[in-house]
Amino acid sequence: MLSEFDLIKQYFVQNYAADSRIALGIGDDCALINPSPGMQLAISSDMLVSGRHFFPDADPYHLGHKCLAVNLSDLAAMGAKPLAFTLALSLPEANPNWLLPFSKGLLDLAQTHHCRLIGGDTTKGPLNICITIFGELPPGTALRRDAAQVDDDIWVSGTLGDARLALAAYWKELPLSPEDHRQAATRMHTPTPRIELGIALRGIAHAALDISDGLIGDLGHILESSKLGASLFIDRLPAGPVLRQQSLEQRRTFTLAGGDDYELCFTAPVHQREAVIAAGIASNTNVTRIGKIEANQGLRLLDDNHQTIKLSLQAFDHFTSA
Ligand code: ADP
Ligand code: MG
Repeated sequence: MLSEFDLIKQYFVQNYAADSRIALGIGDDCALINPSPGMQLAISSDMLVSGRHFFPDADPYHLGHKCLAVNLSDLAAMGAKPLAFTLALSLPEANPNWLLPFSKGLLDLAQTHHCRLIGGDTTKGPLNICITIFGELPPGTALRRDAAQVDDDIWVSGTLGDARLALAAYWKELPLSPEDHRQAATRMHTPTPRIELGIALRGIAHAALDISDGLIGDLGHILESSKLGASLFIDRLPAGPVLRQQSLEQRRTFTLAGGDDYELCFTAPVHQREAVIAAGIASNTNVTRIGKIEANQGLRLLDDNHQTIKLSLQAFDHFTSA
């Protein structure tokens, strides 16, 4: 059995090139960060618990990727640039067949985003992975949930629903061909944090968040914080490539309520439409305009003929009845 510090050294300490932003990394009682002069820190934590947020036998490389991706996604949703992160890990055993791919999945994505692992804690116990991430942004530019304004357009990045579709197939709620299932599951296992888009939207978007629980619920957080309502054009919601081939009802349900996509939902004034599209192009990310912020509270779902749709799903009720 590896000692705790040997384990950290073997799997998590990297030979990094000097980075002036990180004054001290793993090894001392604290790490030391130098945020760029005049910048504000953005900080977020996410805990992933085996059996609750992922299957106990989940592919460890994918799991490493996903644990960091969901944290990076929180930075993206504020418009923050990643700096560094810490990892608190509870492990049932020091199994190299798990630790090696897990640390690789984690550190590969960290390298992509120049976001260094600077510390953490390691203990024996049920598998539980908690990451705290640090980012930076100019003061006053954060894309906050309470900043939506009446008449803002509502936008979403990428596509929605494929992650939830993969889960539905795992749970045998519906059939998918093995190839479709594999393609959809990629979205569930290896979400893409929209860091570049978030940064490009500073000064353009008003409110933003990342979609982890499903569009309706998460947009609801913006509406609640901003004390406003909205209309969504549900047939404009961009479905993932696999979901696009399913029935209209499934497309609507999974784009509206499917979680785990980690796309950004944001609002921006009408006069910024071209700037939003330019931000999408600059960050190589599709953006789709899906609705409108309104003074009238509650969430209204409209079809292409501007008719109100009532969906039977219970979770939607308190939004559609407004
Ligand atoms: P302490 O006794 O202060 O808790 P530890 O012995 O737990 O210190 O950790 C030693 C060093 O290794 C610290 O710098 C800590 O931040 C780092 N560390 C511990 N676990 C991890 C981990 N899972 N990933 C990265 N760094 C870690
Ligand atoms: Mg410790």
